[in-house]
Amino acid sequence: MSNLQFVFALTSGNALLDTLNRVLGIVVGFLVAFLVIFWISLIIWTFRDIRSRTQDLLSQVLATLLVAVFFVGGLFIYMILRPRQTLAEIYERQLEEESLLAEMTERSTCNNCHARVESDFQICPSCGQKLKAACPKCERLLELRWKFCPYCATHLAPGPMQSIPGMPVMQGMPPMSQQLGPRY
Ligand SMILES: [Zn+2]
Ligand SMILES: [Zn+2]
Repeated sequence: MSNLQFVFALTSGNALLDTLNRVLGIVVGFLVAFLVIFWISLIIWTFRDIRSRTQDLLSQVLATLLVAVFFVGGLFIYMILRPRQTLAEIYERQLEEESLLAEMTERSTCNNCHARVESDFQICPSCGQKLKAACPKCERLLELRWKFCPYCATHLAPGPMQSIPGMPVMQGMPPMSQQLGPRY
C-alpha cells in the first residue's frame, strides 16, 4: 500500500463516519420531535377527557399534571382512576330514568290484580276493584284517599254511606251484636 492510498482510505473512512453521525442525528431528532408531540397530545387528550367526566377544577388540573409529569405511566394511572362515566352519559341516564319513572306513573295498574287500568277508570275491568270515586257534586273522578274534591271544593265524607242523609253510619255493616255475639 502506497502512502497516497493510505491517506485516501483514511479520509473516506472519516467521511463515512461523518455521514453515519449525520444520519443518526437526524433519526434522533425525529424521535425526540415525535416524543414531544406525543407527550403534548397525551396531555391535551387527558385534559379533554377529564373535562368531559368532571367539572371539579382540582381533579382536572391533577389529572393533566399526572400525565404531564409521568407521561405514559401517568396515562395508565389516569385511566385506572378516572370517573367511569362521562357527564354526558350521566345526563343521558338521568333522562332515561326520569322518562321511565314518568311512564311507570302514567301506566297505572290495578293494585288488586295488577291489570292495566286507565287513569279515568272508576273500577278495575278485570276484578272490579274500586279505583276512583266520582265526586257527589261535580261528578269528576277523585282518588279514593282524597278528603276534598279539588275541582269543586266539596268536603267528601269519609264513608260512602255517610253522604246519604238520614242513614246511620254503620248501615251496610252487620249489626254489632251479630258481629260480636256468638264469640263472646
Ligand atoms: Zn283488578
Ligand atoms: Zn267535585
